[in-house]
Amino acid sequence: MEILQLMKVLSNEVNLQILSILKSGSFNPRELARILQRDETDVSRRLRMLERVGLVEGNWVRVKKKNIRIYSLKVGEVKISFEPGRIMIKTSEDRSYKISLLESKMPKVETFFGREAEINTLSSSKKPVIVIYGIAGIGKTALAARVFKDAFWYQMSEADSFDYFAWQIGLFLNTLDYPLLLEYLRGGGREERDIFELILEGLENTKAKIVIDDVHKCSDEKILKLLSFLALRIKKGRLILISREKLHFGTGENILYFQLKGLSLKDAYTLLRAKGLHLDAYDFAEIYNLTKGHPLALTLFAEAYRENQKVRTDNFFDFLFSEVYQQLSADEKLMLQIISLFDEPLEYEAIKTLYRKKNSFVILYSLLNKGIVEKRGEVYFLHDLLKGFAREVREIDEKEYYLGYLDYLLKRNTAKNFLAAFRYVIKLGDKEKIKYLIELRVKKFKRIVQDFPDAYMKTLLQIKENPYAKKELGHIYFQKGFFEKALKLWLEVRDDVDGIHRADVISFLADVYMELNNFKEAEKYLKELESIAENSDELEIKFWYYVELTKFYFYMGKPEGALRSAFEELKIVRKIGLYPEIESAVLLHIGDIHIEMEKDEEALKYYLQALNIAEAYSLAFMKNMAKMELTKMYFLLRDYERAVKYGKDAADYFIRVRNYRRATDVLSYRCLAYMALGKIDEAEKDAEEMIRIAQSTNYPLGWAGYIFLGAIKELKGESGKEYFELGKEKLRDYSWLYDAVLEELGKVFNVSKITAKS
Ligand code: ADP
Repeated sequence: MEILQLMKVLSNEVNLQILSILKSGSFNPRELARILQRDETDVSRRLRMLERVGLVEGNWVRVKKKNIRIYSLKVGEVKISFEPGRIMIKTSEDRSYKISLLESKMPKVETFFGREAEINTLSSSKKPVIVIYGIAGIGKTALAARVFKDAFWYQMSEADSFDYFAWQIGLFLNTLDYPLLLEYLRGGGREERDIFELILEGLENTKAKIVIDDVHKCSDEKILKLLSFLALRIKKGRLILISREKLHFGTGENILYFQLKGLSLKDAYTLLRAKGLHLDAYDFAEIYNLTKGHPLALTLFAEAYRENQKVRTDNFFDFLFSEVYQQLSADEKLMLQIISLFDEPLEYEAIKTLYRKKNSFVILYSLLNKGIVEKRGEVYFLHDLLKGFAREVREIDEKEYYLGYLDYLLKRNTAKNFLAAFRYVIKLGDKEKIKYLIELRVKKFKRIVQDFPDAYMKTLLQIKENPYAKKELGHIYFQKGFFEKALKLWLEVRDDVDGIHRADVISFLADVYMELNNFKEAEKYLKELESIAENSDELEIKFWYYVELTKFYFYMGKPEGALRSAFEELKIVRKIGLYPEIESAVLLHIGDIHIEMEKDEEALKYYLQALNIAEAYSLAFMKNMAKMELTKMYFLLRDYERAVKYGKDAADYFIRVRNYRRATDVLSYRCLAYMALGKIDEAEKDAEEMIRIAQSTNYPLGWAGYIFLGAIKELKGESGKEYFELGKEKLRDYSWLYDAVLEELGKVFNVSKITAKS
C-alpha cells in the first residue's frame, strides 16, 4: 500500500464522504453521484483511486448482458501509528479513529486577534443554542470559526431552499453514523414534519454541532421554521446561528443571545501593528473612534493608509474602500470586479476560467493577503460589505462573465450547479437560454423535480410568465399531487411551447387527465402524442408515449394492450441504456400487469428482474419496492418462507424511511405468512406494528392489525373476540377492505391450524 497516496486520499473530504456512504452497503457510481450531488465521472475517478489504495473494492456484476461496476467497503477502519523512522498504517476492525470531515467548509482566518473575553463566554457556555448577532463585518464569522472549530459549517444564501438544506444536513449526519435522514430523502420522503424530527433526532443522537452563518439572508420560510423548531427542542446537539439581526426564539432556557461589538482598544491596536502600522496615540484614538473597533474597517484602513493623508470622516467606509481600490493594480481591480459579480463564493477553477490571464493565482493571493478577498474551504468571496462597493465601481460587462460562468457550471454536471446556472440565465434574461436549460432539465436533470422541488420552484417563480417556466411549474405541482393546478398551467401553455417541450406537455396532459379519471380527454392527448412520437427521432418522446399508453390500457381494464405497450417501453429504456431506475420501474409494471392477467409465475419473473436491476445499481427505493411485490407474490404462491424473507427487508426499509403506507402493505402479508408458518410471536409483533401505524396515520389497512391479532390470540388458545370486534369497528367504512382481509386470513388460518397442531 502506498502510504503517501493513502494519506492523500484520506485527507480529502469528498473521499471520506464516499467511504461513509459505502458503510451502508454496495453502490453503483451513478447512485453515489446522485447522493453526493457530484459529477458521476468525478465520483468514478475517486472510487478507482480508493480501490487502488485498498480501501474499497469494485466488482463487476452482470445484468441483462451488461457489466455493471459496484463498489463496497473493503476495510472498516484505518489505523495510523507513528513509529521511529516510519509511519505504520494498518487497517483493522477493532480500533476507532475520528478524522474530521468538516475542516474544509470552515472560513479561514489567517491572523486572528484578541477577542479573549468573547471566546471565553462562548466556549464556556453550556447552552445548546447560541445566537451570535451584530452588524456586518464586525467579526461574527471569524469568531465562530475560532471557537467552534469542530462544527459543521453551513453558509446560508438568498437562494437557499429547504430541500437542499435538508439534503446537506442528511449527508453530514450520515458521516456521523446517522443515516436515517439521508435514507429518508433518497427514498422520496418529503414530509416537513418527518424531516424536522429526523434532523432533531440526528443532532441529538450524534451530539452534532452545526454553525449556520448569515441566517439573516435566509428567505425560505420552511428553513426558518425548522430553526425555531430546533432552537426550542435541542439538548444534546448544538446549534450556533449567526445573523446580522437578533433572531427571536423566545427566552428559552437553552438559548444564549450574544451580541458582538467591535474589537477592544488593545486588540484593535494589535491588529494595526500586525498590519505594519505604527500610529501615535492621537492618530490611533481618532481611528479607533471612527471604526469603533470594526475589524473589517481596521483592515481596510491599514491597507489604505498613507502618511500625512487626510482621512475623510463622512462616509468613512466608502472613503476607505475607494482608497484601497485606487491602490490596486489593474489586474487586481479586474479580479475583484469579477468576483463581485457573483452572489455565491467561487472556486479557484471558476475564477481562473473567468479571469483568463495567466497570473490568476498570484493576483488572487495578493487580494487574499490584503484582506479584501476571503477564503472558506475551497471557495473565495468578497465580504458582503465590500461587494456592494465593488459593484458600484464596476467597469466590466457582466453579461460576458455570466455567460462564461454558465458554461463553467453546466460542465460540472450536478443538480446544484444546474440550479445555480439557472439563476444566472434569469439574470441574463435570455429567453433562448432559458429554454435550453429547461430542455437540459427534461433530458439530463430529471431528478431535480423530485429531489429539489422547492429550490427549482423558487427559481422558476422569478420568470413565472415564461411559458416554458410555467410548464416546469406544472411538473412540480404534479409531483406534489396538485393535479388541478398542474392541469391549468399545462392547458395554458400547450400551444406556446415547441420541440421536446410540446411533447412533454402533451404527454403530461394525458397523464394528469388519467389521474383525474377523465379518460376521454386523456385519450385525445394520447392520440396527439402518438403522432408527435411517430414524427420525431427522439427515443425519449417515443418512450413517453408508451408510458402513457400502458397506463391508459391498464386503467381501461385491457391488460393485453398494456402488456404490449409496456414491452415497447422496456425496449426503448434498454436502448437508451441510461435509466436503470426507470427500467426497474417498467419491470415492476410488467409484473403488475401479469398479476392482472392472473399469470402469477410470469409476474414473479419480472419482479425478480426488477429486483436484480435495482440491486445492481444500488437503488434502495426500487429494490424495496420489488421486495414488497415479491412478498405479496410469494404469499399468493403459498411460498411463505420466501414471503417472510423478502418482507423482512422491505418492511424494515419502509418503516425506516417513514413510508408507512407501503410498510403496512408489506407488514400485512408478512404477518399472514408468519401465521401460516406457525411463527406466532413474529406474527403478533407485526400485527402490533400495524396497529401502531394505524394509530398515528389512520391508514385503514393498519387497522386490520386488530383482526390479525384476534386470529393470533385464537391460535394461542386465547379469545380473540375483543380484537376482532375492534378491527371490524375501525374498518366500518371500508367494508371491501374488511372482506378482503378476512379472505386472506381464511387462506392461512387453515394452514396455520394444521401447522400449530403438528
Ligand atoms: P461578520 O461575519 O460579522 O460579517 P467577519 O467575521 O466576516 O464579519 O469579519 C470581517 C473581516 O474582518 C474578515 O475579513 C475577518 O477575517 C476580519 N476579522 C474579523 N475578526 C477578526 C479578528 N478578531 N482578527 C483579525 N481579523 C478579523
